[in-house]
Amino acid sequence: MSDLSDPGSPTPCTRQREYIADMKRQNATKSTPAAPRLRENGWNRLTAKEQRAVTVYAAEYLAFLSAAKTERQAYELALAAARQAGFRPLEDRARLKPGDQVWIGGHGRTLLLAVIGRRPLTDGLRIAGAHTDAPRLDAKTTPLYEDGGLAWLDTRYYGGIKKYQWVTLPLALHGVIARQDGTLVPVAIGEDPADPVFTITDLLPHLGKEQEKKSLDDGIKGENLNVLFGSHPSPDRKAKDKVKAALLKLLRERYAITEEDLTSADLEIVPAGPARELGLDRSMILGYGQDDRVCAFACLRALLDRPGVPEHTAIVLLCDKEEVGSIGATGMDSVFFENAVAELLHRADPRAGDLGRRRTLARSKMISADVAAAHDPNYGDVSAPNDNMARINAGLTISKYGGGRGKSGASEASAEFAAEIRRIFNDHQVLWQTGELGKVDAGGGGTIAKFLARYGMDVVDCGVPLLSMHAPWEVAGKLDAYMAWKGYRAFLAS
Ligand code: MN
Ligand code: MN
Repeated sequence: MSDLSDPGSPTPCTRQREYIADMKRQNATKSTPAAPRLRENGWNRLTAKEQRAVTVYAAEYLAFLSAAKTERQAYELALAAARQAGFRPLEDRARLKPGDQVWIGGHGRTLLLAVIGRRPLTDGLRIAGAHTDAPRLDAKTTPLYEDGGLAWLDTRYYGGIKKYQWVTLPLALHGVIARQDGTLVPVAIGEDPADPVFTITDLLPHLGKEQEKKSLDDGIKGENLNVLFGSHPSPDRKAKDKVKAALLKLLRERYAITEEDLTSADLEIVPAGPARELGLDRSMILGYGQDDRVCAFACLRALLDRPGVPEHTAIVLLCDKEEVGSIGATGMDSVFFENAVAELLHRADPRAGDLGRRRTLARSKMISADVAAAHDPNYGDVSAPNDNMARINAGLTISKYGGGRGKSGASEASAEFAAEIRRIFNDHQVLWQTGELGKVDAGGGGTIAKFLARYGMDVVDCGVPLLSMHAPWEVAGKLDAYMAWKGYRAFLAS
């Protein structure tokens, strides 16, 4: 293969020579990168001041992660922070002008925050989008039953979990129970140290010989992920299932709900307890739901901490249902985002119409802020070789494409857009790296990127690398979490 950039080598045609000369002229005017791409721990590149900023940011993130155990709670926390920063519901504004801060909610689970920029919306938006749902167990519609003198909650798992990881852990119950009169009963049991917790049992090793011969996928069955809920029987001699009857009485007294009310509930079973600092040096975070609340928090904070009125209208999307394919009214495969843009445009530029909305979407640029897989030396055989795997605390990770096999299902960022992101990060001293989702043919995955890319906008996946992704307790690096905030902030202001 000949090197087309070498003027000494023969080139196929004049057009190509002109093209190369033109590219060289263009390149001569661009700034050189401020920092080389990292593949090593970035801590010692930071100034003492920025090292302190990482620590402060990590403490705030830890508090958010510990309080946001479900997508509804993430929504409430994000909305409270936005309101405090002056965001108003969109309905409150008949006309939008630069600097206005508004929010649009979707069913209490998907949130859009917008800051109107100086330029017209039809010049395109700057969007950072993350998801706030996480793998977990959901209570079934008829969840409570008694078996073997014990009461249990029957569940169906949500998202991609390794079932064997969910047994013998302290579990908490979060969610809402909707009465038929429309009132909602919020439930959060298992987080306060004084609260009881729940658990899923496993077989003792003494009797587990046959179980241990099974594959990891087969050893714990999805249908057996039953949550131990109680054991105290009712004194009522006539009651059939005495433990269940006693629990229903408790539920009636404490929450004023009936057994039938449980059929209209969103109840999630998640690991109990707060997120923690990880490592003797406290350089990492161990917590439930960091996929993708680590990026969601970074997006939220990036928008709230922005430097003044942005050039382009800046949008942060915190969305639901990513872990099950972004389907449903609150997932990004719905028209929630499109409708929200139509509403914004209607108030910012009423004459823009349908064509204006299409142009706004097609001219937008987006960071799909979702986590990446970090290299785990214990399972190095599935890591992408040759410097293609992200590492913990080596920076915010740009994933040019995801998908599986031959880029199947991948929403790939163009070379041009990946370069633009790189330039923004380098100009703002954001430590970044690139990352693939493991070695070729080892597996695959997707994000919300493709659902926004369908409008013709530039989208790139860019997020925090994790260890133990989708496990009850996931690992993130503090430096990476901070760099996500820094990188998204720079992007939203671009
Ligand atoms: Mn994710
Ligand atoms: Mn995920």
